[in-house]
Amino acid sequence: MRVAVIGGGCAGLAAAVALAERGVFVTVFEAAKQLGGRARGLNWKGKRLDNGQHILIGAYRDTLRLMQMAGIDADAAFMRLPLQLIQHRQFRLRASARLPAPLHILCGLLRAEGLSHRERLAALRLMIALRLSGFRLKQDEALGAFLARYRQPERVTRCLWEPLCLAALNTPVAQASAQVFLNVLRDSFSKTKSDSHLLLPRIDLSGLLIEPLGRYIRTHGGEIRLGATVTAIRRQDEGFSVEYAEETQHFSHVVAAVSPFRLPDLLAQLPQQAQSTRQCESYDYQPIYSVYVQYPDSVHLPFPMIGLTGGHVQWVLDRGGLDGQAGLLAVVISAEGPHQKLTQEALAEEIIRELALAFPELPQPRWHKVIAEKRATFACTPNLERPTQKTDIANFYLAGDYTAGDYPATIEGAVRSGITCAKLILAS
Ligand SMILES: Cc1cc2nc3c(=O)[nH]c(=O)nc-3n(C[C@H](O)[C@H](O)[C@H](O)COP(=O)(O)OP(=O)(O)OC[C@H]3O[C@@H](n4cnc5c(N)ncnc54)[C@H](O)[C@@H]3O)c2cc1C
Repeated sequence: MRVAVIGGGCAGLAAAVALAERGVFVTVFEAAKQLGGRARGLNWKGKRLDNGQHILIGAYRDTLRLMQMAGIDADAAFMRLPLQLIQHRQFRLRASARLPAPLHILCGLLRAEGLSHRERLAALRLMIALRLSGFRLKQDEALGAFLARYRQPERVTRCLWEPLCLAALNTPVAQASAQVFLNVLRDSFSKTKSDSHLLLPRIDLSGLLIEPLGRYIRTHGGEIRLGATVTAIRRQDEGFSVEYAEETQHFSHVVAAVSPFRLPDLLAQLPQQAQSTRQCESYDYQPIYSVYVQYPDSVHLPFPMIGLTGGHVQWVLDRGGLDGQAGLLAVVISAEGPHQKLTQEALAEEIIRELALAFPELPQPRWHKVIAEKRATFACTPNLERPTQKTDIANFYLAGDYTAGDYPATIEGAVRSGITCAKLILAS
């Protein structure tokens, strides 16, 4: 058995690690010069940044298991915070430290700061109704319509549901799938308390996750080819020929772990490619902008992660408090919005102005860096058809955050899809 994994993002690496662990010979082909895809670190002015500030949660069980398998110490890799959502000067939800799940959240909602009694009860009623329904909808719908049906007051939506939806689904509330949002709530709020913990990376994503996974693959007999764009896959005998950089290699199995918009080209030479690619061709995509602002070293935030409302900034993270890069703040702007119309320079100016308004003691920053990922994730809309990992083509599998599953486009979704592919291959 020789498996080609095409794409060295979280999905491809998860598949390769799970296969290498079982002694299967894998080759990972990655078009870029480094592994990681949409979750990678980069150097800028002597600092380690990420292509996008990532936030993980305790419910990412497969990711945490994969990290453990690869020998990564999650306690050192993350700052683990009991759930606390802060919208600066507006709202604060703190899960109870004493009560077990899900009472810790319900109690947190009852005591949420910044909401009236009526608003707290509305949020609480919704959580109880969801729990009673097993977080299942009879029919998926847009989250905005769902929240209106459950009479969620404007402030509860603005301070709680909307920021959670943008952070988890990267899709505006009016368009987002209510069912996928409920899946995330179910897994993070209703099972064990640690599922709701926020896991904030203490180093850049390459150092934290990607490079250790790559090392694991190599030390378990696998190969990683960087700068190796696969240009065609063809059926050959019982297996596949994989073409890249004027070379061709033969494999018994293939896992295509590329973004959905790369799939049609990659599968063009395969006979039954239509079904898998047709579903992806109708996808829309949503951007994520990350704006890094370097202040003098003495600057730090009162909490590692703070939400802002009313402007472009959605979340601001204190990288100094997380990874020791003093004075470095990371701003996250998820999903589409008016910020896309601004030049990067104008956006940075707006962000710096919004930060100064929120935290008047901030001095002038030294530099800033805007990273725009225009197709950061697929738009997670209601009833989206997502291709399964198993395809119509024997021994050919799809991995990626967009493939069938409960989760939106997240590291956990990507990892789960990769592990599913590995299990299918091992079972075959
Ligand atoms: C800015 C940003 C912020 C995010 N924030 C979060 C967050 O806070 N929490 C969270 O859980 N998730 C977050 N995500 C989502 C998460 O990063 C993705 O869901 C995950 O990384 C997707 O992994 P993947 O392996 O499915 O795809 P990708 O990472 O896109 O991997 C696909 C790989 O295939 C390679 N490739 C493509 N074509 C070829 C070819 N022909 N030959 C060889 N290689 C090829 C690409 O170079 C790429 O490396 C964020 C994403 C972005 C962009």
